[in-house]
Amino acid sequence: MAPRFQAPRGTRDLLPDELGRWQWAEARARGVLERYGYREIRTPLFEEFELFARTSGESSDVVQKEMYRFRDLGDRDLALRPEFTAGVMRAYLEHGLGGRARVHRLWSLGPVFRYGRPQKGRYRQFSQINCELVGSPAPGADVEMITLFVDLYEAWGFHDLTVTLNSVGQPASRRAYGDALRAWLAPVRERLGADSQQRLVTNPLRVLDTKDEGDHALFRELGDMPRLLDAVDADDRAHWEAVLAGLEAAGIRYEVDHGLVRGLDYYTRTAFEVHDRSLGAQSALGGGGRYDGLVEELGGAPTPGVGFAIGLDRALLVLEERGAAVPSPAAGLYVAAMEPTRAAALGLARALRRRFAVELD
Ligand code: AMP
Repeated sequence: MAPRFQAPRGTRDLLPDELGRWQWAEARARGVLERYGYREIRTPLFEEFELFARTSGESSDVVQKEMYRFRDLGDRDLALRPEFTAGVMRAYLEHGLGGRARVHRLWSLGPVFRYGRPQKGRYRQFSQINCELVGSPAPGADVEMITLFVDLYEAWGFHDLTVTLNSVGQPASRRAYGDALRAWLAPVRERLGADSQQRLVTNPLRVLDTKDEGDHALFRELGDMPRLLDAVDADDRAHWEAVLAGLEAAGIRYEVDHGLVRGLDYYTRTAFEVHDRSLGAQSALGGGGRYDGLVEELGGAPTPGVGFAIGLDRALLVLEERGAAVPSPAAGLYVAAMEPTRAAALGLARALRRRFAVELD
């Protein structure tokens, strides 16, 4: 008979046998992050709902359909974090980090929550590693982020990575591009999925984010999709070209993806995703981009930033499927006591545990 209580749908238990791999991956990641000069920041698991609505955009899937929103006993409107950036930037402003140093390199690791349809590699509670480089508008910051992303995966043994990137420009160029997309999609408007028809009105770029295969077939049928890169201004274009040159200099392989727009409203200029070629359709390991408009959106002074989130569950799933070896914990000592030495063994084991792993009978 099944036990009376089970883990809520979309969540799972990580049992001690699995955790070895997680701890190994986390330790490897910490090493890379430290060598890049990033410092850890820990923010609450929940924030005001309004913070996420403001930063992710009211029309985003995350806000519309995926938020764990609740009222606490004090009638506050709160939500479990669906991503890290909003909370990290809230903390950045609340503690005036911008006044302490011009540039901050921050990372976090922990659970995030999204109410989606659970499937393999897709959960309602999952873990992300999140990095932010706040305060630098330089193309070199974008390059550093992408390089760090790739190096985290290489530290876990991934070697077949492709970075796809695009420039999402600025709000003004995106509006112009939105109009171009509407015109392009007009002949098939009625045949698009319901979500896409809605988005075509509220936020046409998000139509490109659709997961509906029928929509993608229509895109192919139309052909010649207008390109966001053709709509960006000269400064954005120069930034874009400097990022590409930097990636080449750093030895990062990339592909330009004109359909890459990312799901969140606060991105400007560079948007990127990293895929593992061996994974096929569900190949996105994570992504990120520049969000120069976000801090202002939260009421702060204009502050450039660039960041990414890595989905740990998927990375770990891949490592497990590949049977990647995880170093087993260092061998320890075993203290076996007979009846007359049982009392002494307790003290001995305790003393040994200051230096060694000790198991006592
Ligand atoms: P996003 O914040 O949507 O860009 O997601 C970043 C990464 O988090 C994705 O590439 C996935 O690896 C991972 N991720 C997103 N949603 C889920 C989910 N529901 N379950 C597991 N991993 C996820």
